[in-house]
Amino acid sequence: MDNPEQRIKIAVQKSGRLTDHSLDMLARCGLKFTQSKDQLFCYGENMPIDLLLVRDDDIPGLVSEDVCDLGIVGRNIVEEKRLALLAAGKEASFDRVFELDFGHCRLAIAAPEETAYAGPASLQGARIATSYVAIVSDYLARHSIDAEIVYFSGAVEIAPKLGKAEFICDLVSTGSTLAANHLREVDTVLESEAIIIQTRAPLGSAKQGLVDRILQRLDGVLQVRESKYIMLHAPRAALEEIARLLPGSESPTVIPLEGKGDKVAVHAVCRETVFWETLENLKAAGASSLLVLPVEKMLA
Ligand code: ATP
Ligand code: ZN
Repeated sequence: MDNPEQRIKIAVQKSGRLTDHSLDMLARCGLKFTQSKDQLFCYGENMPIDLLLVRDDDIPGLVSEDVCDLGIVGRNIVEEKRLALLAAGKEASFDRVFELDFGHCRLAIAAPEETAYAGPASLQGARIATSYVAIVSDYLARHSIDAEIVYFSGAVEIAPKLGKAEFICDLVSTGSTLAANHLREVDTVLESEAIIIQTRAPLGSAKQGLVDRILQRLDGVLQVRESKYIMLHAPRAALEEIARLLPGSESPTVIPLEGKGDKVAVHAVCRETVFWETLENLKAAGASSLLVLPVEKMLA
């Protein structure tokens, strides 16, 4: 039995927009879990890494208070917690580690379609309905605007209709909710996506080693998504042009081809999407026998 002190705990959203992606990324890192009966806890079967399934709003606090070592949550929630603590004269005890490239959205200011807007100055003296009190307060302070913030815990978009506010500030991804409520997006306060945060509490070398391993695997998962392995044959004289055409690759491997004189095989990992146009351009530059393979795992 492992010493529970030596196990890593990761806070993940229990049920919502981030859940499937978060669990999928951890599975791609090779982690396997069994879920407890109460479904709040997932025990790591093959590594000493467990999950705590919670509301996304609780994740920054759990990591800041060192209940969890890592957390996967939207930057919007992380920033709200950081600024709310700051406003209370406290400092959040977590660090942002890196972006995870899912859960993209923005915290935007919107108003009824007929409302005129000419920059943040138009918010002067207005009422703004939002669930993001700390972020909006910080935004107003940075623009030296005096406005009233009206707190809504949800359904912020109905505030103008209820006569509670002239503007709202809420999360938007496609804008369809705004359109359905006859609201127009007028400004962006924060660009958001899922990020991973780590507690600032010192972890000890064994735990920190485990955290570093899982972060390196997550980074590998992000890197392979667009990556492809390209193989082709080419005349040696065309190598310079071909290397230039290979999208986002480091120096390719060049292998002589037995009995083919001046012809070589070129192998390269491309870290950007490989389009049909790229293959056609490579062919035009002299390449033949082109093969593009997906990359499953990568460790820098
Ligand atoms: P919980 O029950 O965990 O509190 P929630 O209802 O607050 O869930 P979700 O709606 O599941 O949260 O959204 C979780 C996160 O997904 C948001 O905080 C945000 O980072 C991200 N997100 C991406 N697109 C959108 C969107 N269109 N609307 C709201 N959130 C979005
Ligand atoms: Zn929430």
